[in-house]
Amino acid sequence: MAGDRPGALVDSPAVSAVPVEPFDELQAYADEVAGCTRCRLAQGRTQVVFGAGNPHADLMFVGEAPGFHEDKQGLPFVGQAGKLLEKLLAGIGLQRGDVYIANVLKCRPPGNRDPQPDEIEACESHLFRQIELIEPTVVATLGNFATKLLSGRPLGITRVHGQEQETTIGSRSVLLYPLYHPAAALYTPAMLKVLEADFARLPQLLGRPAEPVAPPEPELTLVQTRPAEQLGLF
Ligand code: SF4
Repeated sequence: MAGDRPGALVDSPAVSAVPVEPFDELQAYADEVAGCTRCRLAQGRTQVVFGAGNPHADLMFVGEAPGFHEDKQGLPFVGQAGKLLEKLLAGIGLQRGDVYIANVLKCRPPGNRDPQPDEIEACESHLFRQIELIEPTVVATLGNFATKLLSGRPLGITRVHGQEQETTIGSRSVLLYPLYHPAAALYTPAMLKVLEADFARLPQLLGRPAEPVAPPEPELTLVQTRPAEQLGLF
């Protein structure tokens, strides 16, 4: 009798055999996080900045927290640091849409102050879940906060930039690759060379041939609102 077969339900037009895609799960999770009130930053934000990019990316970047423009637009890295990130990506033959970009904190700290430990603790599971759903091969941390959180070690970015390490995030094994925060290169142009050199190794870490693309020339306005040290970028 056909109805006794275990596969009969799959044959039924009323039941979908299509698995839930990670992208759908990622979007559903973004919708859920949009209403998060786990920490005090919920009070001052315009909106949650969940993350953006290719939900199937091999390469994911994790920055610190949304700033003024990110908070307004709801997207990560849309200011001067974002433009530099795009130039660095172009230098290795990638575009913004090829990667996924997120932050440790999803809401803007007032006045762009440093994230507080209790805020990071409240928000970290959102990032871990994102990484589980996107399943990147390489997670490039931008600056101190992301590096310390995802490496689980207190070593600052000056010590560990450009040194990849295998690590487990949630249930996923990834290659962690610490980099200076692009904003650091805005405040300290000499640091751009270091960032470019570290970026140049990304294709190799992703198992791709190095792109024969010349490093981009910086065409950036020097933004001197406050010293980089105060941003915790080093
Ligand atoms: S920063 Fe993170 S934990 Fe705090 S309210 Fe925003 S999404 Fe929630």
